[in-house]
Amino acid sequence: MTRARKTTRRPDRIAIHRARVNIDLGLPPAYLNIMAIREIITVPDPRLKEESRPVEGGVTDEIRALMDDMLETMYAAPGIGLAAIQVGVPLRVIVMDLSGEDEDPQPRYFVNPEILETVEDTAPYEEGCLSVPDIFDEVERPVRCKIRYLDYDGQQIEEWAEGLYAVCIQHEMDHLSGTLFIDYLSRLKRQRAVDKVRKAQRQKSRSQAA
Ligand SMILES: [Zn+2]
Repeated sequence: MTRARKTTRRPDRIAIHRARVNIDLGLPPAYLNIMAIREIITVPDPRLKEESRPVEGGVTDEIRALMDDMLETMYAAPGIGLAAIQVGVPLRVIVMDLSGEDEDPQPRYFVNPEILETVEDTAPYEEGCLSVPDIFDEVERPVRCKIRYLDYDGQQIEEWAEGLYAVCIQHEMDHLSGTLFIDYLSRLKRQRAVDKVRKAQRQKSRSQAA
């Protein structure tokens, strides 16, 4: 997911994140540049319609490496949430960071997340998506939801999400079942959004080829 009003992430955010991971691994930063920015797929890529499958066997180093890459990809975009399918991996994995511009990074990791409960109250929020770049529109969702997931260390967490956290986790969970935020819009608006993205992508690849 992206913030409605385009903000520019401080470029040192990736550096801070890298330094932290290096510290966590107990290795000197100079030896490590293990994370990689992956390509984010965009509409109308059919993979975005796929149902993602659960991670089996818990949160392994392989899954953590995927989440590190996803987070770096998300920071670089920049975005505030990213599901694994958006980098072409059909697994139930999400990363997120809702911290403000002037705050330290607060990465969140979700493996096999589930929504256990939602409240009846709903509110509109202007959403954007890294797989539907530069399109923003209002989506109405429950204002609070109870979620369960495994974190970076494989610990099971159960908690209530509200505010932007609730919006973002529901947006990202939708990706796991092949639903995009534009699927909530009218057919006309949705088609316009896909056409616009497709055209922008064509122009981008043409200018890269030139
Ligand atoms: Zn999205």
